[in-house]
Amino acid sequence: MSNQPPEIELPPITFLADGENEDEKQANLDAVLPSPGYPSMALLIADSITKRADLIVLDYSPQMVKLRLQIDGLWHELPQQDRGSGDYMLASLKKISNLNYLERRARQEGEFAAEFLNAKTKFNLVSQGVPTGERVVIHVNRKRPSTDTLADLGMRQKMIDELKEHLGRDSGLILVSTLPGDGLTTFYRGVLDAFDRFMRDYYSIEEVNRVEDEVINVNPITFDESAGQTSRSAVVELLLKEPDVLVFPEIPDGETFDYYCDLANEHEKLVLARIPAKNSVEAILRVMALKPTLSKFAQALLCVTYQRTIRRLCEKCRQPFSPPPQLLQQMGLPPGRVQSLYNHTQPPPPEQAVDQNGKPIEIQICPKCSGLGFMERTGLFELLNVSESFRKALSKTTDLASLTNLAKSEGYLSLREEGVVLVAKGTTSVQELQRVLQK
Ligand SMILES: [Zn+2]
Repeated sequence: MSNQPPEIELPPITFLADGENEDEKQANLDAVLPSPGYPSMALLIADSITKRADLIVLDYSPQMVKLRLQIDGLWHELPQQDRGSGDYMLASLKKISNLNYLERRARQEGEFAAEFLNAKTKFNLVSQGVPTGERVVIHVNRKRPSTDTLADLGMRQKMIDELKEHLGRDSGLILVSTLPGDGLTTFYRGVLDAFDRFMRDYYSIEEVNRVEDEVINVNPITFDESAGQTSRSAVVELLLKEPDVLVFPEIPDGETFDYYCDLANEHEKLVLARIPAKNSVEAILRVMALKPTLSKFAQALLCVTYQRTIRRLCEKCRQPFSPPPQLLQQMGLPPGRVQSLYNHTQPPPPEQAVDQNGKPIEIQICPKCSGLGFMERTGLFELLNVSESFRKALSKTTDLASLTNLAKSEGYLSLREEGVVLVAKGTTSVQELQRVLQK
């Protein structure tokens, strides 16, 4: 054995550098390829693609660099790097993004691309000095389907049919909700996509600086807050066009929300509004906290549709086990109904991957999920159909538990109950369900 550092085998990845013109792009790439930061950059970027990461975050402190990947909404720590090699890697990342690698304080934004695993992936890099050092965030622009349908997102057909019934009504109010940052945009687009696109006129009323991605059947109408316009003033003009359905991505305040309800109750429009919350019942309480006119809200509200994302077990490496009766009981599953449940597989950390003599043994990493045990996400969904008795209860109480109990007595299934179905099917694990429900 020599004292040479071990030769690192680099993944077959090809980078495409950014630059003002082709010459500069080539010059940036030529500068990076032989640089000492290249191998660790190639390993990191290839790793992010293999593991289907959405974000890479590098935190530079005086001694160390912490690296983590966000995969299916969850953070995964990577081994730390010492500051020296981390600095070389960052210089390469900045150079390939056509940024000034000597600048460590001012905010810089750039982009690059990489070809790996038969696909081209684009990356957006933002670096900025922070009190403890520097933070670098790299967005991985993974290819996704342009619009997921509700079925793609994992909603049961029966629930889709029920929701479509509401979406087909002439008037009323539908609330769409998720946790903040938990796939709200994707779910919202899925709901809009479920409209019968040929039959009616749909308009989405959006602030000009917060415009949503376009949905094929919905016409965007913008208003400009800086010019004193509001969603209400935008709608007043729009009403002349006799729209059928009005969609509001935001609920700014109770007074504006009253107007949304007027549109539903008096102008007989179907109104869809979006609000972040922990579940369907809480979404209603969040609206009530804005102090709208309760009678208008109760009259307008048809239903709340809610999504929470949950990771799917990797079907190649998930581990079956016979659930003890106690666990089945806790989950509310009758004994004998489910023979096996599944856990995710995780390879042991490198320090434990040794034989009795302390020699490293080769661990088989699942090629499908790269040893993460999970592959992509699906949704847990709620559909709260608002009944007359629920409307009456809204005018008497804002107690989450009693409203939830009333809804349950009328057939509403909570996230937990929807989740148990996914666990019983082997789509996800008990542990993952618990993690998601604790949010
Ligand atoms: Zn796997």
